[in-house]
Amino acid sequence: GKINIAIDGPAGAGKSTIARRVAGMLSYIYVDTGAMYRAATWYFQQLGIEPEDEEKVLQTVPNLVIELIPGEDGQRVSVNGQEATEEIRSLAVNAQVSRYAQIEGLRGRLVSLQRQMALRKGVVMDGRDIGTTVLPDAEVKVFMTASVEERARRRYKEMKERDQITLDQLIRDIDERDRLDREREISPLRQAEDAVLLDTTNMTPDEVAEAIVSMCRT
Ligand code: C5P
Repeated sequence: GKINIAIDGPAGAGKSTIARRVAGMLSYIYVDTGAMYRAATWYFQQLGIEPEDEEKVLQTVPNLVIELIPGEDGQRVSVNGQEATEEIRSLAVNAQVSRYAQIEGLRGRLVSLQRQMALRKGVVMDGRDIGTTVLPDAEVKVFMTASVEERARRRYKEMKERDQITLDQLIRDIDERDRLDREREISPLRQAEDAVLLDTTNMTPDEVAEAIVSMCRT
């Protein structure tokens, strides 16, 4: 039968590349929860609602409709019908997503959407709190890491705004986001007790994906 696979770890560890690949190998559905926090962030920014303005954020949360649509060249993301696939990867969203992600009411809403998506099993879900909070019963749990330099290099390669930031700045960005994600009160970034730690610094994507798929066979 089908199982659920939870992949957590800090920014730029390669979670989404690997999760997508594993989902392809098993014919499972890939759910990118970071894209959901990014989509919410983009939407609040459009509305001019600051992360400090929790009351406004919470008023808006019930009307938030986020869609992840599998497409030819990866997954498309839309918020309340507005296409936002490219926009959610911008530096502006990067800079603020971890602040909105600290808001309990927003997390509650996204976590319940994520659980619904996994009800029928056969899901590979990546994020920060999947193994600990969203899917504590996931049959396979992986905590992926890599050195911060390697993570920044990987992120840099996939960025569209390379001319607006240096690799050193990106390392600082990623460090700051990890710090906020680890230190927040509600479901912080943390390795679940029953998760397998995978340091991917010196591994190819093929090797990482194969390691995870082989965990699913046992
Ligand atoms: O994975 P990605 O880097 O796209 O995630 C962006 C941000 O969304 C993270 O830095 C974190 O603040 C937030 N996030 C979260 N919980 C998740 C996934 C992402 O708080 N499950």
